[in-house]
Amino acid sequence: MNLISNFPPTAELQALDAAHHMHPFTDGAELAAKGARIITRAKGVTLTDSEGEEILDAMAGLWCVNIGYGRDSMAEAAARQMRELPYYNTFFQTSHVPAIELARKLAEIAPGDLNHVFYASGGSDANDTNVRLVRHYWAAKGKPEKKVIISRKNAYHGSTMAGASLGGMTGMHAQGGLPIPDIVHIGQPHWYAEGGDMTPEEFGRARARELKAKIEELGEDKVAAFIAEPIQGAGGVIIPPDSYWPEIQRICDAHAILLIADEVICGFGRTGQMFGSQSYDICPDIMTVAKGLSSGYIPIGASIVCDEVANTVAEAGDFNHGYTYSGHPVACAVALENLRILEDEKLVENVASGTGPYLAEKWRQLAEHPLVGEAVIRGFMGSLALTPDKAARAPFAAETGTIGLIARGHCFENNLVMRHVGDRMIIAPPLILTKSDVDVLIERAVRALDLTLARIKDEGLY
Ligand code: PMP
Repeated sequence: MNLISNFPPTAELQALDAAHHMHPFTDGAELAAKGARIITRAKGVTLTDSEGEEILDAMAGLWCVNIGYGRDSMAEAAARQMRELPYYNTFFQTSHVPAIELARKLAEIAPGDLNHVFYASGGSDANDTNVRLVRHYWAAKGKPEKKVIISRKNAYHGSTMAGASLGGMTGMHAQGGLPIPDIVHIGQPHWYAEGGDMTPEEFGRARARELKAKIEELGEDKVAAFIAEPIQGAGGVIIPPDSYWPEIQRICDAHAILLIADEVICGFGRTGQMFGSQSYDICPDIMTVAKGLSSGYIPIGASIVCDEVANTVAEAGDFNHGYTYSGHPVACAVALENLRILEDEKLVENVASGTGPYLAEKWRQLAEHPLVGEAVIRGFMGSLALTPDKAARAPFAAETGTIGLIARGHCFENNLVMRHVGDRMIIAPPLILTKSDVDVLIERAVRALDLTLARIKDEGLY
């Protein structure tokens, strides 16, 4: 039964969706056969679908709805700005109040001397900016040959040509002839899957030292920058060993290369501080931000740039780069209201010392489930590794199929949005999550894990 009457019945919507809507990262034929779940509205941490079912969104949309859904003041900020000045560009020696105010605000909250903002519409295009910006920077310093960017396998930095090239997803590189030139990848600090007999700390240091080895192999005079997410998100919420980032920082400090922290997921509170870089004592030269900057209410992203890079580029003539919607006034106004809410409601504190520790305790207890090899969490980013053999940290055999997909299906059927990355289950809930929301989340997650285990036992896969 439809609880809301002003849209067509679900089956009709699904048929239209299948006929005309191409979905990102989706097997189109499979979805067309099955029919998409149609989300019609949302409030707080709860989604409602076209059948009136209420779903706990433990992924905050796509890791972005940090302030939760259904905020009137966000709609009002957008409406006010649309009435005042719905659009103007920032290309030809013009500016406007929302772009200026948001840049000032970002400079205030960003660590170190990250005082300059170049706007984009999301994380991918902000990372495209970064590729051009760091190469232009080194060219302006008289070193045009310093253009290689080192990234990591299984990183995610977006879906544009440059974003997907920076990313280390083999499935993405396989489509469309990627990566583009002068982007290379080193290993990821994924101890659970790749650490073998090393301790996490040994492994973290070893993986960080791959950066030094790569710089030496290529020659420091060829390398422009290293880019990394403080915690890999789309790669499966891979929380690096504590030894990893200090070693990376030391290596970056010892070499003349720029450090880009991709804060698209970690930024705006998710790790328990405003930025993931602060949680890991990273001193980036550039931060990529998007998602939590507007809590997904409107598309906006940015590169937040340090004094040295911004000032050098400013002195080097035209930077031939920009987007129609760089610094879109409505997006900036909405982002400002979002940051006001984050601060006034102390949502970052909720992650650090309110709901966060309770969520962490309950989440880590999931490691006791027979199907779970590890349950890790930092702030409001957590993951579970599903395994047939806990002691060996073993993955499921390839011919078993993706058990994470089965688990994700059971979560969804039990009105919980958790995502799977292969056989890792991940959460990144809105930062407004309460302890009673945690109880619901964990109860549904356990049920989904039980159902998954029962099913794979039935099917002889376990
Ligand atoms: N960087 C990171 C770390 C991301 O997680 C994402 C999106 N998941 C992006 C970049 C790309 O952002 P967008 O989808 O807004 O282009």
